[in-house]
Amino acid sequence: MRSPRSLSLTSSVHEENETEPPVVVSTSGTESQENSPEPGPNLSPPIGEVSKRFKERYFSDTSNDQWNNWQWQSAHSITTWQELGYYFTLSEQEMMSAHMEKRLPMRITPYYASLIDPVNTLQPIRRTMIPVQDELLLSPEEKADPLGEENQSPVPQLVHRYPDRALFLTTGVCAAYCRYCTRSHMVSKKDKVHSSLVVWDAALKYISEHPEIRDVLLSGGDPLTMSDSRLEYLLSRLRQIPHVEIIRIGTKVPVVLPQRITEGLVGVLKKYHPLLMSIHFTHPDEITPEVAFACTRLADAGIPLGSQTVLLKGVNDEVEVYRKLAQQLLKIRVKPYYLYQCDPIPGSAHFRTPVSKGLEIIQGLRGFTSGYAIPHFVIDAPGGGGKIPLLPDYVAERNSEGYLLRNYEGKYFLYREPIDQF
Ligand SMILES: *Cc1c(COP(=O)(O)O)cnc(C)c1O
Repeated sequence: MRSPRSLSLTSSVHEENETEPPVVVSTSGTESQENSPEPGPNLSPPIGEVSKRFKERYFSDTSNDQWNNWQWQSAHSITTWQELGYYFTLSEQEMMSAHMEKRLPMRITPYYASLIDPVNTLQPIRRTMIPVQDELLLSPEEKADPLGEENQSPVPQLVHRYPDRALFLTTGVCAAYCRYCTRSHMVSKKDKVHSSLVVWDAALKYISEHPEIRDVLLSGGDPLTMSDSRLEYLLSRLRQIPHVEIIRIGTKVPVVLPQRITEGLVGVLKKYHPLLMSIHFTHPDEITPEVAFACTRLADAGIPLGSQTVLLKGVNDEVEVYRKLAQQLLKIRVKPYYLYQCDPIPGSAHFRTPVSKGLEIIQGLRGFTSGYAIPHFVIDAPGGGGKIPLLPDYVAERNSEGYLLRNYEGKYFLYREPIDQF
């Protein structure tokens, strides 16, 4: 079947399809129109209203093409306190942290900066990007490498924790640094330069010598900060290993630098299917026309998209906020995959929520919205135990008759187990 796009191109195409029902162009609310752009070969990426205002104020001489160019975005990223002070009114809490040595570099793309409230220090996206003094407070449960990744790393930058899959930390570079980053210990050391090919070679050799590895997860840092050719080199090397069945990319680039999701990049990625992508989303404010365009382009290339979200105090720790995020993600064809308890990295206490918060969110979703919108709530066990799922208690009682179950409305139902008669 033809897409609506090709039908509308010429009248002759239309005539061929006279017997088919006419294509109805959606005229639903402006919000859904804004969120469902159709990327196509000749369509340039949109610039949403919020970014447009920011661009007009601070980059009025910059063309739309330049703004939409990911290298331009990278080159103009905010990395110093002078720049930060130029765009935002900084609070004392924020300024105090400027003079102290950080464990994590600062980096914000102009696009993502445009989503940050210039004054309100409590705005969720702002809190995830602009350092505050609280980052320097250490709690006893915190560790630089909370997941014990270095102990499960047979060769540098490869973590082999689970039987059939491996995590490949391909680079230390990110397009923007989240203040609560689990791998802050790694990116703080390796910011600025991508990993050397020598390191990659050793990791690829390890994968090729371990036939049990059927799933390779590329993360970092952020693999999509690399050039198309470098990424293609890595993907093609992995595809030469017969036992690697699926390749996954973990990234926040589609959210902080959606301009990176070019046709060229997508053209490279889809050559190495089956390839999946886990995208790090934090808050519904991130779902802009730019991000919707990037995700549509990825989904149209046949890449299954999942989201990974870290539960953060004052950012997304309310049922309503997460539900809105999950529902909007489904609209842009991203399946909520994991909701993580925030890892105890140094200086993360101001971000961490009680474990009960995650359970409350799952309970507030199950039954109340699409099952597809519900992620797994997990704690990545300190010391390297891996991801452990937590569920609200739906089993009220288990006895000889069967299971007494509680549904989402708090009503009880008995499920009788089959009696073994044979
Ligand atoms: C999260 C993770 C994976 C992938 O886990 P899935 O549950 O399959 O998504 C693999 N290796 C490591 C070390 C991880 O942290």
